[in-house]
Amino acid sequence: MTDIYGLTPVKLADRLTELGEKPSRAGIILPAVYGDLTTDFSALPLRNETIEKLSGNFFFGEPECVKKLVSDTADKYLFRLSDGNFIESVLMKHEFGNNVCVSTQVGCNMGCRFCASGRLRKIRDLTVSEMVGQIMHIRRDIGVKINGLSIMGIGEPLENLANVLEFIEIAQYPKGFDIGIKHITLSTCGIVTGIYELADSSSPVNLAVSLHAPDDELRKTIMPTANKYSIAEIIKAAIYYSEKNNRRITFEYVMLDGVNDSDECAGKLAALLSPLNCYVNIIRYNPSDGSEFKCSPHERIMGFYDILKKNGIGVTMRRELGASVNAACGQLRAEAGNTKYK
Ligand code: SAH
Repeated sequence: MTDIYGLTPVKLADRLTELGEKPSRAGIILPAVYGDLTTDFSALPLRNETIEKLSGNFFFGEPECVKKLVSDTADKYLFRLSDGNFIESVLMKHEFGNNVCVSTQVGCNMGCRFCASGRLRKIRDLTVSEMVGQIMHIRRDIGVKINGLSIMGIGEPLENLANVLEFIEIAQYPKGFDIGIKHITLSTCGIVTGIYELADSSSPVNLAVSLHAPDDELRKTIMPTANKYSIAEIIKAAIYYSEKNNRRITFEYVMLDGVNDSDECAGKLAALLSPLNCYVNIIRYNPSDGSEFKCSPHERIMGFYDILKKNGIGVTMRRELGASVNAACGQLRAEAGNTKYK
């Protein structure tokens, strides 16, 4: 049996050929599966023999939702995967539409000191179907279209890029979820090799880079990946990405009180980024249990913001969604009494 949610349109067509069916049947199956959200092949306008073959060879691997926490701005979904592992996804309810924050790994090995997800070691990458399953469940649950995706839940997406690219292909399928590439943003802690790979792929989505410090020395104290990739290498890759795909790059910057929020840091950041087609997304730090950091006070955040602005850098402040259900950035952490997480 093959999990249909794990197949890109081309792979589905190939599988149909293997089964002795016309590959063009994919053009009937995909809109039903991703547009009408069907899980019953017998509803399709196909011969009985074909329907029996489909039912006998494909299944719908949607993960089980074991908990949903609801708030005004964001809902958090906890999913149990077929092997008993847990992941989370967040539905962010903006006035301009619904955006889903998707997880890409069970746990994360990046070890950023300020992030709750990173306290769980990575157990494994998610499959294509497990990423599709997150948006399939939420789409079914809300009953309306999903307008955008943030590939920035638990995990480092560029460590699981092959699967993430296939997931993006399915999310974009026009008669299905139909989520345009300009409405998909992938966030990375700065895996340089992956940035080049994504730049050269057929799905160059919006790129966000978690920078969080204006120099390597400081960055190394909060993000272990800084020992592997320097800021200079990250900036070079970001310029390549931006020029190749004509995109503005986002640099994320979390405000950690007394750590990376000084005027000097803001000045250095402005100097570093001024040659780039980019903007800075300032993120309020969201504390989690036992965290060693505090969020910078409001006046400090505004002071930092002003310095960037005065130096001609585009700046946005990430709207804080979902903090009341622990669904804000850095708070995603599969809970649910899974002993693997203790
Ligand atoms: N691994 C990817 C995507 C997941 S995190 C990455 O590192 O970019 C998504 C964003 O939330 C990143 O910018 C991350 O640095 C930020 N983040 C992590 N912990 C946070 C916290 N406690 N408060 C605010 N933002 C946080």
